[in-house]
Amino acid sequence: MNRVALVTGGARGIGLGIAGRLAAEGCDLAVCGVRPPAAAEAAVSGLRATGSDVMYVQADVSSGEDRKRLLSEIRSRFGRLNVLVNNAGVAPEVRADILEASEDSYDRVMGTNLKGPYFLTQAVANWMIAQRREDAGFAGCIVNISSMSATVASPNRGEYCLSKAGLGMATKLWAVRLGEFGIPVYEVCPGVIMTDMTAGVREKYDRLIAGGLTVQQRWGYPEDVGKAVAMLVRGDLPYSTGQSIMVDGGLTLQRL
Ligand code: NDP
Repeated sequence: MNRVALVTGGARGIGLGIAGRLAAEGCDLAVCGVRPPAAAEAAVSGLRATGSDVMYVQADVSSGEDRKRLLSEIRSRFGRLNVLVNNAGVAPEVRADILEASEDSYDRVMGTNLKGPYFLTQAVANWMIAQRREDAGFAGCIVNISSMSATVASPNRGEYCLSKAGLGMATKLWAVRLGEFGIPVYEVCPGVIMTDMTAGVREKYDRLIAGGLTVQQRWGYPEDVGKAVAMLVRGDLPYSTGQSIMVDGGLTLQRL
């Protein structure tokens, strides 16, 4: 029986890169997003072409109601869930100096990037614990897509940095709590990845990358993150729960 993976925000960008790798490795998939199913249809069809069973659920991870419905639809369709990838996230709509940034933007970014994954993990963790009680061979895994912004301070998007730093602690908390159940929890921290999220700052980063921002002088791609997540989900880093993996082309290496 295939393992079932839920990838939030899995119909676009980094999430689609992750979903694609997991499908290629034989996982069945649930992907969610805020767009209606028709908008995600092309991505979902592409994932199905690998032979995996793929369902799309329109669900906002920042909403408790939506998270509940999302898991109940997965339960009806697959009856099980082995892998949770908390990937869905938003950048601030406006990059504003922290001297001026608004509480509305703070609430929006924290709701999607931190509160959503934290409580989705809580619900999934309880389901995984129940599955493990029924089947000692159950193999669960949780991966949080954080960011280099968990540790690199950008004062023109403070709420984003805070949300990712919080997700880093959430990773540690859940790793500690779920250790006794054999469920590893990891954090993956991408650097500058070419997606819709970075479309508005493409020229700026083209220049910075050409000027040596990263050690590996290129943009990162969703597949780079997908490969890292697939490694974790496969179980290729079995004795490292709670750890962060940088996927940033060396951007955060200290250099002199
Ligand atoms: P995109 O903007 O390209 O895609 C974001 C995805 O998240 C979309 O699928 C979107 O759904 C989904 N999403 C957004 N809000 C919600 C919500 N409230 N509920 C459910 N789904 C939601 O972003 P990226 O692919 O670039 O980013 C993915 C993750 O990677 C984010 O957590 C981001 O912070 C992180 N990251 C990105 C980096 C980059 O350089 N791009 C660098 C470091 C980290 P829909 O398709 O329906 O709109």
